[in-house]
Amino acid sequence: MIYGGSTVCADGCLFRRPCDIIKFVFKHPYRELFIWETMQKTGLVYHPIYLEHQTGSWHPERPERLTAILQAVEAAGLKNTLVQLTPKACPLEYIKAIHSDRLINSIKRLSSSASPQHIDADTAVSGKSFEAALHAAGAGIAAADAIFEGTIDNAFCAVRPPGHHAETDRAMGFCLFNNVAILARYLQREKGLERVVIVDWDVHHGNGTQEIFYDDPTVLYFSSHQYPHYPGTGSMNEGGSGKGETFTVNAPLRAGCGDAEYQQVYTKMLPPIADVFKPDFVLVSAGFDAHRDDPLASMGLTDEGYAWLTKLVVDIAQKHCNGRLVSMLEGGYDLRALGASVTAHLEVLSGKRQSG
Ligand SMILES: [Zn+2]
Repeated sequence: MIYGGSTVCADGCLFRRPCDIIKFVFKHPYRELFIWETMQKTGLVYHPIYLEHQTGSWHPERPERLTAILQAVEAAGLKNTLVQLTPKACPLEYIKAIHSDRLINSIKRLSSSASPQHIDADTAVSGKSFEAALHAAGAGIAAADAIFEGTIDNAFCAVRPPGHHAETDRAMGFCLFNNVAILARYLQREKGLERVVIVDWDVHHGNGTQEIFYDDPTVLYFSSHQYPHYPGTGSMNEGGSGKGETFTVNAPLRAGCGDAEYQQVYTKMLPPIADVFKPDFVLVSAGFDAHRDDPLASMGLTDEGYAWLTKLVVDIAQKHCNGRLVSMLEGGYDLRALGASVTAHLEVLSGKRQSG
């Protein structure tokens, strides 16, 4: 209420000048009631060529995944709060920093056919797959550039094909080029960063990312995944080699783990690891196939569980690297669960939602 030119709160505090109000808010015992986090500018990186990567009519990694994400984001009223970014094709020099010429050339050659050609039982390419894969890798670069230009604070890249199973010399598990690995090297080479952490919560182990950085102490790879499960790697004993020893951290989880178990594991492991490693940038291999409705695995995460995980990595990025974070889509094959989980992920990234 207004009291003789001053404002008085219920406890009788007097405000005579605007700065008194600021002091009140910081000192008042009710400060915990206020929401302190500011809204973040979050990028949504997408290119329509991702829909032209055709894998065959039976395939779970299908264009409708991205359509479902875009529809869910729009239905949640999020679209206008996000900064929409359209990436370019990733220059080959950045792909070659991670992958062999043999792999790059074989994907390019197989992509010359209009009908899907199989690299292995799970992984197919068709006419536009090479271009789509170049633009998927380019999404991370567009997001990182926008963060360093100050256009956005963090970003989610709605890409396909996914990347975390792709090894230096092998495409597999729906993945052609390792998008998140290409981005990690780009950040080091072009932005001068020393240490990058990759958090991979896809339900499958990211064997490709692990292989690429296994002896590298500058890129810390942390993965939680159902175990044993495809692709068979990711035991606790796999912890890096040579100079990279201890810089690969695997959290193999039994089937059936849900929000409570994930929160326990992540709370105990990830913040202490980040406190020691002190990352200059946080990358997320954001797979949403640990969702309880996903048909390709047997975990029990909910949309809220994914929101909680997102808050944890956002907090780590804010503590260590000014909030710099890019997440890239990996798996997630139930269309409803994928749309809802990505929406929750984006709400937390943008500060619209506090946690799960
Ligand atoms: Zn997966």
